[in-house]
Amino acid sequence: MKLIPLKQWICDSCGGVIEKPTDGWLEWYTEKDKSLDSGFRIVHHRESCMYNDMTLNQQNRSPCDLSLSLVLGSGGLGYFLFELELSEKGVHKFASIKELIEIIRRLHLPYYEEARLYWNDALRDGFHDGCSFDENTLLAIIQNYGGG
Ligand SMILES: [Zn+2]
Repeated sequence: MKLIPLKQWICDSCGGVIEKPTDGWLEWYTEKDKSLDSGFRIVHHRESCMYNDMTLNQQNRSPCDLSLSLVLGSGGLGYFLFELELSEKGVHKFASIKELIEIIRRLHLPYYEEARLYWNDALRDGFHDGCSFDENTLLAIIQNYGGG
């Protein structure tokens, strides 16, 4: 598999490739009882891949979503940083900050989306230290484990 960095992603619902940003969708939900944001996913912008609003409501969750084009680039990064800032102030609460950070990495770090497929293998083999996210390191993971 070869993904175009920051322009293509793997759909968290169907596992297929999201071919271009306008085909993609960022979605999550709020647990109504606790006002906790959770369930962050990058999916195809089509009914078969997106959360079903009715199902979420039955689970006492409110759907939230944004077009991928709104969360890419410097404007998108600024949006996420602001959300993190608000969470420190208690305006938003996230079930897991780690979940949101993973989404930010996938949308903003070149080659991360593809390198993450091999992340655990690279860690296990000592090929990756788990804390470097520069392009050369991520490309090396793809080349070593993804067949070049
Ligand atoms: Zn899909």
